[in-house]
This record gives sequence, structure tokens and C-alpha cells, in this order.
Amino acid sequence: MKRKINFNAGPAMLPAEVSQEAALAIEEYKNTGISILETQHRGKDFEEIIEESKHLVRLLCNIGDDYEVLWMQGGGRLQFSLIPMNFLLHRAAYIDSGHWANQAIESSKFVGDTVTIASTRAINYSQLPELPKAIDGNFSYLHITTNNTIYGTQWHELPKYDIPLIADMSSDIFSGKRDYTLFDMFYAVAQKNLGIAGNTLVVIKKELLQRQARELAPIFCYNNHVLENSILNTANVFGIYVSLLTLRWINKKTLVQIEKENNQKAKLLYDAIDTNPHFKAYIQEKSDRSIMNVCFTAHDTLIEEKLLDSCSDNNITGIKGHRSIGGFRVSLYNAITMNDVKKLVTLINSIN
Ligand code: PMP
Repeated sequence: MKRKINFNAGPAMLPAEVSQEAALAIEEYKNTGISILETQHRGKDFEEIIEESKHLVRLLCNIGDDYEVLWMQGGGRLQFSLIPMNFLLHRAAYIDSGHWANQAIESSKFVGDTVTIASTRAINYSQLPELPKAIDGNFSYLHITTNNTIYGTQWHELPKYDIPLIADMSSDIFSGKRDYTLFDMFYAVAQKNLGIAGNTLVVIKKELLQRQARELAPIFCYNNHVLENSILNTANVFGIYVSLLTLRWINKKTLVQIEKENNQKAKLLYDAIDTNPHFKAYIQEKSDRSIMNVCFTAHDTLIEEKLLDSCSDNNITGIKGHRSIGGFRVSLYNAITMNDVKKLVTLINSIN
């Protein structure tokens, strides 16, 4: 098989080493005589996978035992509901910076008083919203989406208010070094920078876990998932294993190196778009630009088709933009190399 360069936003390209090792484990997991796909969720082998993955998450985030690390199913959307169910006591504050941020808001409204403190919905999320200097109102938490996958904006600086901060980091987790201790909770679906779909990383500060807002059935309750060490129900053994392989890959490469390469990749692509008269970046405010998802449009449909055709002739896939803004979206997650981006940039530069 000739692997294509896959710029999709998620499910996204995995590092080649991760796919290869996962494929071997599908044949047989660690001389056990059975496949990872058949491995029991309640058994020593899987317990080791869980423990090593938790250790690596703590190591990469530079956080201690004051945080719990969970693997959960149900994707980002389940978290949108579980967060208010578990933590919204009187009211919660949200930043509306994109489609997924907005979905989190809509889910929270089913649970309780949900206040949007800033939004750029009226301008189709073409920049990050300006934040109020201060917020007060007895909020249980503030929810932020650190990277807006569909529009290509990213918070490079976090809001500083005196309330617990909860972040959806689905599309920029481990894209570089960050101070994770600023978050009381963060979560990320795995299918972008952390493995495959069906698996979500959830990290919660113990202090926040103690503030459970209401009684809940066990499956909806973070504290129960902690008690059961992520094996409350039959766990997604393969998904968590692929995340472990990805964490090992990240740790070996180091976040410092990953961040350096991600910045270089994004700069190369934005520069190519900004200097080409046929294309325009969706996000004009440079300080708001995401280094993970680069969105741009062509000035006419003929040019758009030319670039799409040229990509498909050159073994490149996944650059078509999300239907809500059209054009192109190129996702530069960790598995994408500088060489991959150079190939795309050569095609962009050759359009006339
Ligand atoms: N949050 C963000 C930032 C996303 O990009 C996505 C999906 N791509 C989601 C949440 C939703 O994830 P899921 O489809 O797994 O529910």
C-alpha cells in the first residue's frame, strides 16, 4: 500500500510507527497467543496499558497525583453533557469560539443556567472573541475550546479568572508545551493527536471532583469512572492501546521538538497562502491562528478545483474544507511531517 499524506481533521493521520505497531498487536499481543482486539479489559495486560498511559499523560503534562486521568468513550459530545451534569451547581460560563464550543453550550443548557461570556458566532467565528476583563456571578466553571478545529483559531493565551477552567483540547492536545496546571479539567478526543476515534482522554483535578453538583447514575459520574480506573464498562482496549503507542511516540520525540516542528509547519503553510494572490486565509488576525488547522479559500472555483485535482494526483488527501466555511482545511497534527507540508506548498505555489 502506498500511504497518502492525510491532512484530514479527524480521524487523522497516525505516526507510521504507531500504525505499524498496532498492526502487529492485532496479529498477536505480546506473545499472549491472542490479538489486542481480543484482550480482556479486566486482566493484567490491560491494567499495564492503563497504568503506563496514565503515567505518560502525567509526565507529558507535568502534573501530579492531584489530577485523575481517565479514558472514556462517547467522544467529545459526551463530555459536553457530563461536564455540566457533574459540575454545574448554580451556573456555568462558556466561551463561544466555534461550532464545538457552541455544541458544548447547547448541551449545558439542558442541565442548568449557562452563560456565554464571549462569542464570535455573528461573524462565523472568523476570529477569537474578546474576553471581558472580569466575570462574576458565582460560576461553577469556565469552559473554553483551546483550538477551534473547523475555523482554525487557537487560544495561545488562556483567560485568567478566579473560577475553575475546563478545556476541550481535542484538536491541540500535545501540540506543544503548555502549563497544564492552569486547568482544573481538560479533555481530548483521541482521533486527532492521540490515537483513534472511540477514545477520549479526560483529566480532572481531585479538588474539582470533590465538587460533584448532584447525584448521578454511575455511568454519568466522573467519580465512579475514577473509582473503577476507567473500566466501569467494557473498555475500548484497542483504542486505549493505540493512544498508549501515540503517547510513547510523543514522549520519545519530546514536546519541545514537536512544538518546534508544528510552528515551522504552520508558518510555511500560512506564508504560502498569504503570499499567493489566488488564496486567502480564513483567519486574518495572525495572533488568533491555529498551528493545527489551517483554513483558507480560493478566489474562484476553478482554482479550487485545480488544487484539489493536483493534490489527488500527488497522493495527498483530506484538504477539503468543512462545509460551514468551504475552501480548504489542512490539519497539521503531530504525525504530519515538514516534508508533507513542503509537498503541499509546492502544489499551492504551482497553481496559476
Ligand atoms: N471538540 C472538538 C474541538 C472537535 O474538533 C470535535 C470533533 N472533531 C469534537 C469536540 C467532537 O468530538 P466527537 O465527534 O468525538 O464527539
